[in-house]
Amino acid sequence: MKMRTFLFTACLLMVTLLFSSCETSSQSNKPSVSNELSISNELSISNELSISNESSISNEPSVSDEPSVSDEPSVSECIHVWSEATCTSPKTCSKCGINEGKALEHTYNVTDITEATCTEDGKKIYVCSLCGNTYTEDIPAKGHSWKDATCTEPKTCKLCGTTQGNALGHTDGEICTHCGKTLRTLGQSNALKSAKSYLSYSAFSYEGLINQLKYEKYTHDEAVYAANNCGANWNEQALKSAKSYLNYTSFSYKGLIGQLEYEQFTYSQAKYAADNCGANWNEQAKKTAASYLKFSSFSREALIEQLKYEGFTHEQAVYGVEANGY
Ligand SMILES: [Zn+2]
Ligand SMILES: [Zn+2]
Ligand SMILES: [Zn+2]
Ligand SMILES: [Zn+2]
Repeated sequence: MKMRTFLFTACLLMVTLLFSSCETSSQSNKPSVSNELSISNELSISNELSISNESSISNEPSVSDEPSVSDEPSVSECIHVWSEATCTSPKTCSKCGINEGKALEHTYNVTDITEATCTEDGKKIYVCSLCGNTYTEDIPAKGHSWKDATCTEPKTCKLCGTTQGNALGHTDGEICTHCGKTLRTLGQSNALKSAKSYLSYSAFSYEGLINQLKYEKYTHDEAVYAANNCGANWNEQALKSAKSYLNYTSFSYKGLIGQLEYEQFTYSQAKYAADNCGANWNEQAKKTAASYLKFSSFSREALIEQLKYEGFTHEQAVYGVEANGY
């Protein structure tokens, strides 16, 4: 600044000198002096201005300009317009974007439960009461809760009733050693043993077995108990019986059924046996004719009639007689 003042003062001085010399000096001197001065004046003034402009004037405004570049009002200037905090964002000014505090926390409630079963997963659905956001939580399947098998019930799930395998069944004897149940009297127990023993070497009908046991002096009730509990399949007993008859004698289809009914098999049991015994009824007729001819003499027609009386059909009877050369 001192320099500036000095220069300025010097200039003034020179101008003053110039004018005073112009008035006093000759005309030939004038242009050269005035030219020199005017040049030096111009330079010094323009230099000064350019320097001072750069350093002081141009720098200052650039600092104050910066905040005004953004469109939003500055935080200090904003009259905040708050939007309330949500589950995911804090209280926020919609004008300047400034935050205050924290986001809320979700407030979840269970709105729906599908219970898990023994074998299938369930689920819980949670919903935020503030924002409606939801999520699902799996409930793992529980798995079966097994109750062991008993004499009378199979292994069973206590929750869903699913069963696995079979009941154990009572033990043998009068009292079950598993469950302590009184199963049978000694008389029933022995009748049952006898029944099983009979069935191991011969075939019986239900009624035939009862009669056999009563013949052994078991009471009616003991005999019935044994027949009901021996586990026999009466169709198979009839079939077994039919095969044993056919081993030592010959029968027609009808004759075999009649014989089995006589042994107190039912008609359907006897029919089952006759249908499944595998006999060739023509061959049975031939065998029957042969045995008649062995013990007695018959005319051809009388023998055919005898075979029909035994239950063979006419065709089977003729076949049987002719097969014996009659
Ligand atoms: Zn604001
Ligand atoms: Zn929420
Ligand atoms: Zn279960
Ligand atoms: Zn038991």
